[in-house]
Amino acid sequence: MNQKDTIKLIEILKQTHSDAKCSLDFNTPFELLIAVILSAQCTDERVNKVTPAIFAHYHTPEDFANMDLALLENLIHSCGFYKNKAKNIKATAQILVNQYHSEVPHTMEELMSLPGVGRKTANVVMLEAFNEPQGVAVDTHCRRISNRIGLSDKKEPEKIEQDLLKLFPKQYYYDLNHILIWHGRKICTARNPNCENCPISTYCKAFQSAK
Ligand code: SF4
Repeated sequence: MNQKDTIKLIEILKQTHSDAKCSLDFNTPFELLIAVILSAQCTDERVNKVTPAIFAHYHTPEDFANMDLALLENLIHSCGFYKNKAKNIKATAQILVNQYHSEVPHTMEELMSLPGVGRKTANVVMLEAFNEPQGVAVDTHCRRISNRIGLSDKKEPEKIEQDLLKLFPKQYYYDLNHILIWHGRKICTARNPNCENCPISTYCKAFQSAK
């Protein structure tokens, strides 16, 4: 796809999903960091059901650094992989307290050095907490859509992200992060993509090659 078409594609998706935004609930960068760590292999909806009860009592890095591990495991149990997530959250909170004056760091490198924080999580934090998008957080929706449309033929999220960053100018990073996920949830779902009513079918490699 040439750059003219990619811009057209993103403009159509922006209009279609004008309400697209981060679907995790949070009040501070640290709460967002916790929510994104919890969202691995879990739905945002589930995370949003779990975090209000936790953040009502524990919401600073100190709170989590000092929290009893078994209690934390219990609180996040329904998000899955709770033992690993609890260990990473507590370790991350301890690092923030000891090395970052209890603040969430503002660079991809620093974020990715924290336990349980990969490139996708770091991208989400840079975008949603600091409004400084550095790339595209490639989740399951973004991966599927990118492959179907033909924006990338790779399977690994990091490689897909690199393909997307080559295709789209930086001014579109903010929108890309939201609208590909929204399109995947609402129209181009995993099992039943609604191609008949998809506004970008003209630009979609999967749709065009199936005709
Ligand atoms: S045309 Fe179909 S496969 Fe292509 S993006 Fe739209 S819904 Fe997905």
